[in-house]
Amino acid sequence: MRIHILWAILALIVATVSGLTVYSLLKPTYTYNRPAQPAFVISFDDKYVSEWHAQRELFKRYKVKATFFITMPQQLSQSEIEMLQELAADGHEIASHGYLHENSSKFIKEHGIATYVAHEITPAIQAMQVIGFSPSTFAYPYGVRSLKLDQELTKYFHLLRGDSWKVTGKGIEEQDRIFYKYDGSRLVHGLGIDNNSGVTLQDMEAGFKRAYHNKEAIIIYAHNISEDTTGYSISPQTLEAVFQLAQKHKLSSLTFRELVL
Ligand SMILES: [Zn+2]
Repeated sequence: MRIHILWAILALIVATVSGLTVYSLLKPTYTYNRPAQPAFVISFDDKYVSEWHAQRELFKRYKVKATFFITMPQQLSQSEIEMLQELAADGHEIASHGYLHENSSKFIKEHGIATYVAHEITPAIQAMQVIGFSPSTFAYPYGVRSLKLDQELTKYFHLLRGDSWKVTGKGIEEQDRIFYKYDGSRLVHGLGIDNNSGVTLQDMEAGFKRAYHNKEAIIIYAHNISEDTTGYSISPQTLEAVFQLAQKHKLSSLTFRELVL
């Protein structure tokens, strides 16, 4: 009887120690220890590389570090790759927005999560590594995601971005999910601020004030930077006005990986 108890205790010790070993092996190498600070995080999606690159000086003038979420990296031309390298050298983050810009929900319904990862995620990471980038954050194409997929993709990325849009009758300062609270969350939602989003500078100022008062990071994003007033695009003038508002409200500029690394 006594021997059985001893064996049980021994087995328990072995299980605990090996459990701890497994735990420490799986433990992430990063820490979520960035102190809470008022900040804004701006990102741009898809593949408008020359339009983004054309605004290098604007970003520099306001000390803004953006995150560029690249889709279809396998299709980048040599000159686009060089422009992205210059943007990276300026301190901007080059991140992933998928290999073929698939709608994850539709794709997974037909083919399952494993095939989605094999077709949309790992080839995107590999294609970016080939040209010298190591994406560590990811923006969902069309903002389409699920909790199950979040769990899977945190194996590949430190931070995931879903999306959020202006809701009529609701201030953006009321949209909790576009504010990062430095709580180690691996998922954030960006507010779309393209010309067609309906988000005004006034809206944004209300959001910036909240970020300042609560020491949160407000997450905003756009696509192209151009004079196109109808599509998924923001003009250089509006972008500059956004940067001025961020300065006025003492928000520092962080990239996505800087939120968690
Ligand atoms: Zn996109």
